[in-house]
Amino acid sequence: MSTHKTTNIVDTMLTPKDYQYLYHLTAGPTPLQKNCGVLCGSVCCQPGENNDLGIYLFPGEEVMFTRRESWLIWEAQDPAEQLFPASWPNPVYFVRCTRSCPREKRPLACRFFPLAPHLQQNGDLLIIYETLDLPYSCPLITQNLPLQKTFIQTVATAWQVMLKDSRIRDFVEEESRYHEARGIPLRVLKTEP
Ligand code: SF4
Ligand code: SF4
Repeated sequence: MSTHKTTNIVDTMLTPKDYQYLYHLTAGPTPLQKNCGVLCGSVCCQPGENNDLGIYLFPGEEVMFTRRESWLIWEAQDPAEQLFPASWPNPVYFVRCTRSCPREKRPLACRFFPLAPHLQQNGDLLIIYETLDLPYSCPLITQNLPLQKTFIQTVATAWQVMLKDSRIRDFVEEESRYHEARGIPLRVLKTEP
């Protein structure tokens, strides 16, 4: 798998093998050496007041699940209704946890949090703190705690791979232009290349 600069990557779609690689790559590194869930009672894993908090899977990521996981509730949603890019396949999968997951099974979105990608207009990738308006507060973001370098590097490497998928790149492009249009301040942890 090549992880070179995103602008050199031809349009393609991530394969099941790519997702297996991404899960392997991101299996170990964590934001802190200790479990950051002890700082907040694992608030990002809670179902929320209305039992409506969950995670969207990336296009094709569903191959990593059997859909018989006892800890997950699945919803197939229309990507257009959820404002995902027009290139995204229908349906998009939204999953909610009923209890703690087996860690090695957690979706990619959980493995990246609290970091996110931002593509500059020249195609360069920045790794930033998540800018989503979340219904909870993550101490890693609010307290500016130093994150492990291996975690930041792993997230950057994973996003370089993710961005070879044109549908995922469309998503990151749209999010990035949204950041700019709204003047959302970016807290950058890593620049690529
Ligand atoms: S909210 Fe932040 S600190 Fe708490 S478990 Fe999630 S990532 Fe860790
Ligand atoms: S899949 Fe695991 S890490 Fe992700 S929100 Fe659910 S319990 Fe938390």
